[in-house]
Amino acid sequence: MIRIGITGGIGSGKSTFCAHLEEQGAVVFDADSEANAVMVGDASIRKAIIDLMGPFAYQVDGLLDREFVSRRIFSDPIARRRIGEIVHPRVQERFLQAAKEATRAGAEAIVREAALLPPAHMRDSLDVLLVVEAPREDRVHRVVERNHLPREAVMDRIDAQPADEVYRSAADEVIVNDGSLDDLRNEALRFWGQIIVRQSA
Ligand code: ADP
Repeated sequence: MIRIGITGGIGSGKSTFCAHLEEQGAVVFDADSEANAVMVGDASIRKAIIDLMGPFAYQVDGLLDREFVSRRIFSDPIARRRIGEIVHPRVQERFLQAAKEATRAGAEAIVREAALLPPAHMRDSLDVLLVVEAPREDRVHRVVERNHLPREAVMDRIDAQPADEVYRSAADEVIVNDGSLDDLRNEALRFWGQIIVRQSA
């Protein structure tokens, strides 16, 4: 079974790309949702985050205050690094577990989808790393439509993520999503075909 990392900034089209791979039989592991689940559901991680950021990291209903946490992470590189150190290992454990289960279930591939590049020391758990990128204006437009957010808010989010070159420099393959949704689907099918051939070779 092949382990594929798929990453790209907000609105690049990575979730759509992953959904096409899922249709072909890949198991998709959404690392960002898993990170959120770990931050909410794992008592020792909650404690570590509260020690780092204070009680306002969580809302009264117990969910993560994503606005508060994002603001802290954005303005404080040390907090950003620390939160990664707290959360990444647990997400990685879950990924390795999911990969084992996918192997047992006979899946041909597992896809680890995340907005940020996997940390360097986790790169070994992936056989191939694919980056989806798209022109900035397309990303802004698509996320405004999808999330009903003001343009400025979307541009701020894009600017808070790494630049295209940073993603590219780590990638084995880059998909440029600057055409139609059908074009993106065709790219996903082409990639899938190539992966399956490589695996059976
Ligand atoms: P990401 O997961 O990288 O944030 P998505 O895959 O959710 O991005 O895509 C963002 C939005 O843009 C979705 O609503 C998706 O349907 C749309 N989209 C993605 N690629 C295209 C495309 N090539 N043409 C038109 N809309 C697209």
